[in-house]
Amino acid sequence: MALKAAIARRHFRDHGLEVGPERIVVGNGGKQVIFDALLATVDDGDEVLIPTPYWSAYALMTEVVGGRATFVPCAAEAGFKLDPAALDAAITPRTRWVVLNSPNNPTGAALSRDELLAIGAVFQRHPHVWVMTDDMYGRLRFDGAPPMTLAEVAPELADRLLTVDGASKTYAMTGWRIGWGIGPAPLMRAMANMQGQATAGVSTVGQAATAAALDGPQGGVAEQVVAYRRRRDLVVDALRAMPGVECHRPEGAFYVFPSIAALLGRHSRGGAAVDTCAAFATALLEEAHVATVPGRAFGGPGHLRLSTATDDATLVRACAAMADFVRDLR
Ligand code: PLP
Repeated sequence: MALKAAIARRHFRDHGLEVGPERIVVGNGGKQVIFDALLATVDDGDEVLIPTPYWSAYALMTEVVGGRATFVPCAAEAGFKLDPAALDAAITPRTRWVVLNSPNNPTGAALSRDELLAIGAVFQRHPHVWVMTDDMYGRLRFDGAPPMTLAEVAPELADRLLTVDGASKTYAMTGWRIGWGIGPAPLMRAMANMQGQATAGVSTVGQAATAAALDGPQGGVAEQVVAYRRRRDLVVDALRAMPGVECHRPEGAFYVFPSIAALLGRHSRGGAAVDTCAAFATALLEEAHVATVPGRAFGGPGHLRLSTATDDATLVRACAAMADFVRDLR
């Protein structure tokens, strides 16, 4: 109850929304919260609609619980932002959930209040659809916008909206494994039943630490945002200086998602055929010792995902090694 009270205080402080403990569920990370929601609600063949590029877990979890992941592409040219008309067109009678993630893993794209409003309006036309907003990176924004969530701009969705958040990203507390969901009480009860049979409760030590993080001074978060923003610029500028690499400048989170499509079809200096983003990532790892994730894993082939959640010196070194690797492609 102490952690739920701290979550409710933060939800009110940041979003002006009051929620009681019956509308909050705490899990072992946001990951379990999302899994429990899908497990509790998705029947065989139900569709979970996911804007791409996306965090791989949404689709894989959907498959595990017997659902069907469906996708709506967000164009790089549009800054990887979800187009409300495309969302509208992708919803079918079988769509159970739509998953929104802003700022986004892997692209870093973050929706503005107006963009959220336009997306909320689409859901009003489809009352059978439930909406999951994954706000895990909501406080790591570089555009100066305050944290915002669909629940505050579209309060009419409250009885079919699940807001997911956690301590992992905002407070760099990944290992403490604390996440939470805020949503309608019947959904919370169903999710708690799933979790009750899987892992029982959540570590009391992690709960106490997270309550302290939520209620304590937030200056550390602002300091981290400054650091992540500096690292984003460092990495984006370095990538844009590499011939053949294109890179959107993210508005939030701590990832960068460059396109390396123009470089595919070449050979690395070690002789590897770099035909796909996966082959590129493997050669870059083996020959330049830089770890990235192929965009294909996020529904964004032809891209790489780089994490900027490390120190500046390491990023400078990694970018230099990648620039050498790219220069030597033949
Ligand atoms: N949502 C997104 C978009 C993520 O990137 C992650 C972790 O990488 C999570 C949720 C889950 O985080 P955790 O389970 O650590 O709370």
